[in-house]
Amino acid sequence: MIGSKMNWANLKKTPTHAVDGSVYAPVKPIAIEGLGVEMTYQSGRQSFKVLKGIDLQVQQSDIQLLMGPSGSGKTTLLSILAGLLTPTGGQVFLRGEDITKMSRSQLANFRLRNIGFIFQGFNLFPALNAIENIEVALNIKGIKGSKAKEEAVYLLEQVGLGEKGKHLPRDLSGGQKQRVAIARALAGHPPLIMADEPTAALDSSSGRAVIDLLKGLAKGEGATVLMVTHDPRIVDVADRILELEDGMIKSE
Ligand code: ADP
Ligand code: MG
Repeated sequence: MIGSKMNWANLKKTPTHAVDGSVYAPVKPIAIEGLGVEMTYQSGRQSFKVLKGIDLQVQQSDIQLLMGPSGSGKTTLLSILAGLLTPTGGQVFLRGEDITKMSRSQLANFRLRNIGFIFQGFNLFPALNAIENIEVALNIKGIKGSKAKEEAVYLLEQVGLGEKGKHLPRDLSGGQKQRVAIARALAGHPPLIMADEPTAALDSSSGRAVIDLLKGLAKGEGATVLMVTHDPRIVDVADRILELEDGMIKSE
């Protein structure tokens, strides 16, 4: 490598050979990091500590899963890591930047440029058709006009909804709405993709399409995917699985 240009794309594909002939994989940068993340919910005079000091790291271009029983704090943790919820303690670094130190507008701007979040609910605009729902997301990210429309149509095709572009959310099934929401979250190629049970409402073939899409984004484009899921098909493609239990990460 000495004297030649270091190229990240090549680095990932070409393991390095040490002088003794052993091969070691290059270290990938940390894309998502939580340090001592705590969350205490307050209801009246009762307080309830859901997260008790979570440390976690997700490497770039990995597909990492967050598992654990219902009520263990998966959605809370994912929301904190995505900057949607402020933790009561600890720090969150996304692509090396401490989001817990950002102002509201800095965080909003950072989220827009970096994070595609797939919610458990769909959060689609009811008066806009499928294409328009995605176009709006692209417009907010600065992609406008025919370019936004083309990208929206392409994304819908990617999730297997090419023919449903003109349909309003009320004329789509739950699984189809979920796929529009996924296409919208992926609009503009966010480097960080976070998803809360994205395939739960999907039949097996559309679930498969979504998994293939996420896998392609991670392995082909270097996107980092952090997902709450119990889908065994996603477990098959995951690089790492973290389990939450009693507000802590269960040791691997
Ligand atoms: P999971 O996604 O693993 O099912 P959640 O993060 O949704 O878990 O919830 C973890 C715990 O925190 C649950 O006991 C839940 O009732 C509680 N909780 C979640 N959100 C709130 C909130 N906004 N206010 C108070 N308690 C909450
Ligand atoms: Mg949840």
